[in-house]
Amino acid sequence: MSIQHSPRHLVGMKRFDSNDGMPVPSSGGSVRRFATPSPASQPSSPLAAALSFLEGVASHRMCKEELRAWIDRNLVHTGTMPHPWHLHEPLFGALPSDKHCSIFLPEVPPSDETDAILVRARARVVGHLRGLIQTPSDDRFLSAAIFTGRVRRALVGDTMQWVARPRSYDGLSDIVTCLFVTDILGRRDFYESNLCVCDTCGRVRFDPEPAQRNKCFFC
Ligand SMILES: [Zn+2]
Repeated sequence: MSIQHSPRHLVGMKRFDSNDGMPVPSSGGSVRRFATPSPASQPSSPLAAALSFLEGVASHRMCKEELRAWIDRNLVHTGTMPHPWHLHEPLFGALPSDKHCSIFLPEVPPSDETDAILVRARARVVGHLRGLIQTPSDDRFLSAAIFTGRVRRALVGDTMQWVARPRSYDGLSDIVTCLFVTDILGRRDFYESNLCVCDTCGRVRFDPEPAQRNKCFFC
């Protein structure tokens, strides 16, 4: 479980504008059916935030300042968590689940410490999601998020919903993961039918009729 307090890198805590990580269609011109947003399947705000993180890191658009702004906009200003004092992420190999995530690390680790933290965090989050589409599925990160209190049931309006409540001292991957967890717990069937995670590049997308759930259009 990703709850060990193993060696961590610490850096000080930046604006990230994007399409908020909505699934990106193929650039090859082929027509594909996507999980069309509808009142029932409209990506929640936590999902959009989590996807934007993954896409931002993968596309190298996210830097220290952008990460700070992403956290402020999606977590602090929404009341999800207090502002973290430090951005940190365990070194790879420190967590039992790392063996499933290491394939999403770049061959050459970034020399910039923030970049290194970002790629490690993305690799772990993608690795968690990949577990959902494996056979048998590995969804231990869901129970881990519940057990640690990073996601909780709360009354939102007049309905009980799962909400993310990461702590200011949580690792970055745990923070991003719990955003996905709140969405998954609220509509597990949608993920079982639509989630695709590329084994090669780690791209996360939603497609109700994928040729392969573990491949993307570019790999
Ligand atoms: Zn790919």
